[in-house]
Amino acid sequence: MKLFSLRLWHRLCSLSLLLMFAMVGLWFLPRDSQAQLFILPLAGVIASVALLGAWQGFLLVRQRLEFGCPQCNRNAKVVAASKKLWHLECPTCGDLQVHTGWFRLRVMPQKYKRAKPDSRR
Ligand SMILES: [Zn+2]
Repeated sequence: MKLFSLRLWHRLCSLSLLLMFAMVGLWFLPRDSQAQLFILPLAGVIASVALLGAWQGFLLVRQRLEFGCPQCNRNAKVVAASKKLWHLECPTCGDLQVHTGWFRLRVMPQKYKRAKPDSRR
């Protein structure tokens, strides 16, 4: 089951990082500033994204995380993910490697290679 396209989710994460900086910035304003009223709603948005991320991490560990493919938007299974690199299996586009940057994705066809067991022994 997919909740988001990978592109949308990635934008949401980039945006919440931006919001986090904004929130920290607001924190340093004088106590009586009206802008401080935004801190709580901002914290709510950031916490929601973080909770969603945690849930997706749980799905990933159970190999059940899916996103809309960044190329065709069909359900693509996430095989592996790290902060800057995702591996997807799309039924249409095949195996994809997705590099993530600030509000930017770079998609290339690439089979996911599992780390080989140590053969030096
Ligand atoms: Zn695809």
